Amino acid sequence: MATGAPGETVPESGIYKCIWCGNEVTCVKGEVFPPCARKCTHVQYIMVRATR
Ligand SMILES: [Zn+2]
Repeated sequence: MATGAPGETVPESGIYKCIWCGNEVTCVKGEVFPPCARKCTHVQYIMVRATR
């Protein structure tokens, strides 16, 4: 499963969820993961589902 943190490059396009607050963000492959909108620290995102 694809994972990432703010400032890292998105490995696969998809919907990602912050493991701390559950906030979902849409990320595009090759772009950079954003900070969590709810300002969690040490954010890790995990992919919920892939998008095309
Ligand atoms: Zn969060």
